[in-house]
Amino acid sequence: MQRGDGLRGVVAVDGPAGTGKSTVARRLAAWLGARYLDTGAMYRAAALGVLRAGVDTSDATAVSEVVARSRIEVGTDPDSSSVLLEGEDVSREIRGSAVTTAVSPVSAVSQVRGLLVAQQRRIISDATAGGGGIVVEGRDVGTVVVPDAPLKVFLTATAAQRAARRAAQDGVEDLAEVRRAVERRDRFDSTRATSPMCAAEDAVELDTTALDIEAVLGRLHELAVARGLVVLAVRGRT
Ligand code: C5P
Repeated sequence: MQRGDGLRGVVAVDGPAGTGKSTVARRLAAWLGARYLDTGAMYRAAALGVLRAGVDTSDATAVSEVVARSRIEVGTDPDSSSVLLEGEDVSREIRGSAVTTAVSPVSAVSQVRGLLVAQQRRIISDATAGGGGIVVEGRDVGTVVVPDAPLKVFLTATAAQRAARRAAQDGVEDLAEVRRAVERRDRFDSTRATSPMCAAEDAVELDTTALDIEAVLGRLHELAVARGLVVLAVRGRT
């Protein structure tokens, strides 16, 4: 099977941290031989550039100037994602706590969103040219980046469950602190003026609190089939 053969068009997967979004989006793309775009990784790389420039994240003008001259490149292979800042692989560094704290204020700057959304649309358009498919994850994919996506999913889960998943993933023991950090970031992301995180009106909302990854993946696959986006019978998951 060639990449892109199994999925036609865009599947938008949005939702807050800890809902299983990244794992599910990446695995769905791999399963369907499609491309995968992690828009959050792009905002994280932008935030790292701002930190490295020594700019205050609350200074919107300075932040947007830094991001405008930053070279951010993101790979779309679901089996080996890469994020480059000025040609340097920063995939690990962007997951650190300094970037996680800085990313919400940086991504709230409307000029930053304008630059990154334009880049995301170019990547999506390249991936779907000639009938290919891509799974795109983020906070505003269904509402802003690809408002005409044929399948939009908004994943949710209780704050307690999301914090527990994040703590397990990052090997952190202080669950209460993880929960506070997750809730703080969600509040920031869903109350900002530009493109706040929210479900698109036509998104399918899926509460993952009591579901494991396989169940969520199965549900998304069913939805993609039902919408006529799966163009080949694919045997076995990759
Ligand atoms: O998905 P992830 O947790 O890596 O996203 C990091 C941050 O990037 C989010 O908390 C949010 O501030 C920002 N983001 C965004 N829009 C997106 C994806 C991520 O504002 N489409």
